Amino acid sequence: TQHLLTRVTSHQALGAFLHVDAAGALARAQAADARLAAGEAGALIGIPLAHKDIYVTADMPTTAGSKILAGYRSPFDATVVARLNGAGTVSLGKLNCDEFAMGSANENSAYGPAHNPWDLGRVPGGSSGGSAVAVAARIVPATTGTDTGGSIRQPASFTGITGIKPTYGVCSRYGMIAFASSLDQAGPMARSAEDCALLLSAMSGFDERDATSVQQPPQDFHAQMLTAREGATAAQPLKGLRIGLPREFFPAALAADVNVAVRAGLAELEKLGATLVDVSLPRTELAIPVYYIIAPAEASSNLSRFDGVKFGHRAAQYDDLLDMYKKSRAEGFGAEVKRRIMIGTYVLSHGYYDAYYLQAQKLRRMIADDFQQAFRQCDLIAGPVAPSVAWKAGEGAEDPVKAYLADIFTLPGSLAGLPGMSVPVGFGEGGMPVGLQLLGNYFKEGQLLHAAHALQ
Ligand code: GLN
Repeated sequence: TQHLLTRVTSHQALGAFLHVDAAGALARAQAADARLAAGEAGALIGIPLAHKDIYVTADMPTTAGSKILAGYRSPFDATVVARLNGAGTVSLGKLNCDEFAMGSANENSAYGPAHNPWDLGRVPGGSSGGSAVAVAARIVPATTGTDTGGSIRQPASFTGITGIKPTYGVCSRYGMIAFASSLDQAGPMARSAEDCALLLSAMSGFDERDATSVQQPPQDFHAQMLTAREGATAAQPLKGLRIGLPREFFPAALAADVNVAVRAGLAELEKLGATLVDVSLPRTELAIPVYYIIAPAEASSNLSRFDGVKFGHRAAQYDDLLDMYKKSRAEGFGAEVKRRIMIGTYVLSHGYYDAYYLQAQKLRRMIADDFQQAFRQCDLIAGPVAPSVAWKAGEGAEDPVKAYLADIFTLPGSLAGLPGMSVPVGFGEGGMPVGLQLLGNYFKEGQLLHAAHALQ
C-alpha cells in the first residue's frame, strides 16, 4: 500500500485519481495485516484498489465527476464498496470519470481529463477512464467501474486491461449514483480475467436495498472460471464452445487494425478448441438511437434530485426558490449532462412519449430477443469492443454524435442486460491496445471468465 501510494503521486499527471486517502489506506492495510495475522484466509485481504467516484463512500468525498457534488460526503458506503471493504481490500481513493458516467473518453469530467498511459495524447475511454488508467499504469492492481452502455468494456479495451460487466442485477446498484437505472451495472477492472473473477465474487450478490438486485445465492466466479468444460483437453480447454460472430459487428466501417487484432484473438480461441459460427444481430445499428433515448430519459429523471436543496452545490445568489433551482443546476452541471437532461425531458414529454420513449422501449425488447435468437446457435458472442483504437484527445469534444456512434458494439448487450467482457487481444494503430468483446447469455459470467482466462 505504501509503495502504491508513491505511484499515485508519481503518476498524478495521468489524472486517474480525484481523491487520495493515504492515511485511511494505511490504516486499512494495517487492519488487513491483523486479519491475516489472525489466520484469516481470503484472496482479497490486503489487496489495494480504488473506486470509481460514482460509488458513494462514507470515509471519502464523492463527486461523480461533477461540480454539482463538489464537497459532498455520503453518510454511507455503496453496497459494492462495503462488500469489497468487508473482503479486506484496501481502498486508496476515488477515480476520475465522466460526469455522472456520461461519456466515452473521460473528457466530460468536471475535474479534467484522464490520459491514456499508452499515449498521453489519447483518451483512455470512458466513462470509467480513471479506473482503466489506474490499472493500466500499474498504480493499483484493480479498480471498480460502472457500465451503462459500455463504460467498463470500452476503457478496458482502450487501455489494454480486462473488465467485466455482469448480468444486470448481479451487483447491487445501492449507492452507485444513478445515471440510467435500467442499464447501470457495477463491475471490476483489472489485469486479468482471474483477478476480475475474484473481485466480482466479492462485489456481487443479492441486496435487499436494490429492488432490481437478483435473488441468487452467492457465486464463486473464480471456481466457475476454473471449472473444466465437459470434453475439454489440456490443449483444447474450449473444445465444444461455440462462439457466435454477429456479422453486424464486422461492418466495413470497422477500422482495419481493430479487425486484424480481433481476428487474431478469434483464431487463438479456435486453437483453444472453440468453433466460430456466423450469427446475426439485425438491430445492432438501432441500439444507438434506442440507447440515446432511454439513457437520457432515465438520466433526466434521476438527476432531478440535484436541486441545490438536499445536497451538492447551491447558487450563492438567487431571487426565489425556482431561481435557486435554475442557477444551482446551471452552475453545477456540465454541457454533456445538460444536453442529456434536455433530450431526456423532451422524449418523455406529453405528445412525444409515444413517438420516442415508447418506441425505444419496444425496440429494446426486440434487440434482447435478437440475442436469444443468436444464443440458439452459440454459447458466447464475440466481436470488437469499439470500432477504433483510443482516439486523440479533443477529437470527440466538438461532435457528441460521433462519440455516440462509437458505442455501437457495446450498447446492444447493455440494452439486453447481458454480461460482457473486454479482453486484450493485440495492438493497432500507434501501438494502441485492442480489446475483444465477449458477450454471454444471462448469468453466464462463469463461462465468459472461463473463455477469457483460457485466452490469457
Ligand atoms: N458512452 C456511453 C454514454 O455516454 C456509455 C456510458 C456508460 O456506460 N456509463 O452514455
